[in-house]
Amino acid sequence: MIMKRVALLAIALACAALPVQADIVADIVSRVPAQPHTYAEMMAALQDLHETERVTCQSIGKTTGGRHIAMAVVHDPAFQPMSLRKMLVIARQHGNEPAGTEAAMALLRHMAESDGRAETELLKRVALLVIPMANPDGASRSSRRNGAGVDLNRDWQALSQPETKAIEGVFLAWRPDTVIDLHELPAFSSKASYQENFVETIGSCSTLPAVLGERCGRTSAQVSVWMKRYGIPLNIYYDTPGDDTRLCHRHFGLGHRVPSYLFESKTGRGRSLSDRCSYHVLGMLVIANQLAYHHDGEPIVPQVAAAPAPREPEPQPETRVALMEPIADASSEDRTLLCADVQAGEEFAYLTFEMNGRVLVLTNRDPWEYWLDRRQCSEGPVEIVARAYDHAGQCIAADRRTVTLVQPGTALGE
Ligand SMILES: [Zn+2]
Repeated sequence: MIMKRVALLAIALACAALPVQADIVADIVSRVPAQPHTYAEMMAALQDLHETERVTCQSIGKTTGGRHIAMAVVHDPAFQPMSLRKMLVIARQHGNEPAGTEAAMALLRHMAESDGRAETELLKRVALLVIPMANPDGASRSSRRNGAGVDLNRDWQALSQPETKAIEGVFLAWRPDTVIDLHELPAFSSKASYQENFVETIGSCSTLPAVLGERCGRTSAQVSVWMKRYGIPLNIYYDTPGDDTRLCHRHFGLGHRVPSYLFESKTGRGRSLSDRCSYHVLGMLVIANQLAYHHDGEPIVPQVAAAPAPREPEPQPETRVALMEPIADASSEDRTLLCADVQAGEEFAYLTFEMNGRVLVLTNRDPWEYWLDRRQCSEGPVEIVARAYDHAGQCIAADRRTVTLVQPGTALGE
C-alpha cells in the first residue's frame, strides 16, 4: 500500500489558520515497532505512559487466564475527562489481529508526548479511552478466540465473557460519544466484502434517530476522503436494525445508539504492520477530529447533511448518475431496492441516496444500491435523489425521480 502524503492531517485537526506542520499520521506510525508488543511489553509501556501527565491507565477487569484488561485515558489534565467528549477505542478483540493494538499504542504515546497544536487542542475537547488489547489471552496465543474459546466479537448480546462485561462496564460508566472497534481482515477470503479495507457504520433507519445515521454518514465521508488523500483504499458499509447485534459495533451503534465504527484493515502481501496501522490511525484521528470540531456544529461536508435545496451540479461529463426504477422486494413487504447506474469519473468520491431531502445512505462502492425500509416513508409520492460527490464534498452529478412506494400492510398492486 502506498502512502501518498499529498495532504497533511494536521490541516484537518485544527482550524484553517493553523500553520502546516509535520504529518501527524506519519509521526504516529513511525512509533510502530517492527514486531508487535507482547502482552508484557504492552503492560510495561502502559505503566510508562501512566507516569506521564496526560495519561491514566487502569485495569478494567481480568480475563479467565488471569490477565488484566487495560484501559488508558488520555486528555488535557486541565479538564475533567468526564466534561469532555469521549471516544472509546476497542482494539484486538481477536487476538490474532495485532495492528489495532499497535495503532492504539502508537496513538497513545504520541498523544501523551506531542506538543503539536493540533494534538493539544484535540485533547482539550476529546478524552480518548483506549483499550489496546481487549483479548490478552487470545493475543498471548495469537488466537482469534479468548481464553475460554469464545469469539468475543460474537458475545455482545450474551455479554458472557469477562472481556465483554468489562468493556460494557466502561461504556456504562463513561458513556462515550463514539465507539471504534479495530480489526484485521484475512489475506485470503472468498467473501466479496473482505477483499479490501472497510469501515462499517450505522445507516439511516426508521427505528434509529435520524441524526445518528446522518452523523455516521458525514463522518464516514470524511474518513473516505482522508483515506483517499493518503492513498489507502477503503469501502464503506452500513448496519441497519435486524443485523446481527452479537457484533461489538452493532451492539453500541444499533443497541446503545452511539455512532460506532468497525475498522477492518486488510492483511496480505504488500500490507505491512505499519501500513495496517496507518489505516487505523488515520481512521481514529478523523473520527476524533469530527467529535472535537464538527459534532454539533457545522458539518464538515454540508451537502451530506439534510440540505433543503442543494445546488444543482455543474455539468461533469466524466461522472454520470442514473436512478433506476425502485424494485419492491418480493420476499418482504417492508423493503424496496433503490439502485443507480453510476459512471464514475476521476473526481468521483462517493454516492448518496436521498428521500425527500434526507440522506438515507452514503456509499463509495459498487453495487450502487440501498434497501429502503418503506416504514420510513411517508404516504404518497416521495422524491428519491441519487447524488455523486467529489473529494471536496461537491455534488458533481445527480438524478432524481418521484415515486409512490407501496406502504407495508398494503397488498402489492392495490
Ligand atoms: Zn477481528
